[in-house]
Amino acid sequence: MTFEALGVSSVAVRLPEQLGDLSGLVIPGGESTAIGKLMRTYEFYDAIRQQHGAGMAVWGTCAGAILMASVVLDAVDDQEPLGLMDIDVRRNAYGRQLDSFEAELDVHGLEGETFRGVFIRAPWIERIGSEVDVLAEHDGHIVAAQHGDLLATTFHPELTGDPRMHRFFLDKVVGS
Ligand code: GLN
Repeated sequence: MTFEALGVSSVAVRLPEQLGDLSGLVIPGGESTAIGKLMRTYEFYDAIRQQHGAGMAVWGTCAGAILMASVVLDAVDDQEPLGLMDIDVRRNAYGRQLDSFEAELDVHGLEGETFRGVFIRAPWIERIGSEVDVLAEHDGHIVAAQHGDLLATTFHPELTGDPRMHRFFLDKVVGS
């Protein structure tokens, strides 16, 4: 799924200056240590915090959810999260045996059938602050959460053809 498919334009953000034009930012999956290093080099940390303070919504998927957290459990060395969202996230939480899998999720706020969660060396959300809403759990662990204009998912909605999570971000997170 893409935002374009929903009639919403998006840009690939390469420099902090681009953030000023955005109503919402997606921090994608990948490798949170590598993304964090690039964010440090290109001075994204304060820029993202500032733009979020000025009203930009943020959706972190997988590694992006790790980067949004207050605390990263099983972090590598000097890995530093943005501290945007009052959640603690455990990296590579499912371990080696089950490092990638798919599961049907009941996501609060999505109508209709279950949502296919694609988990790739995924983290889970181990603690949430009192103002954070749980949107989905899998096997007793939180895999999606929202706090106003902040959304964290530990799976990859962009790898499915289902538009509902993208629609949810546009309507309920950017529009919160
Ligand atoms: N395991 C990765 C990390 O720790 C996240 C994997 C992903 O984004 N799919 O950053």
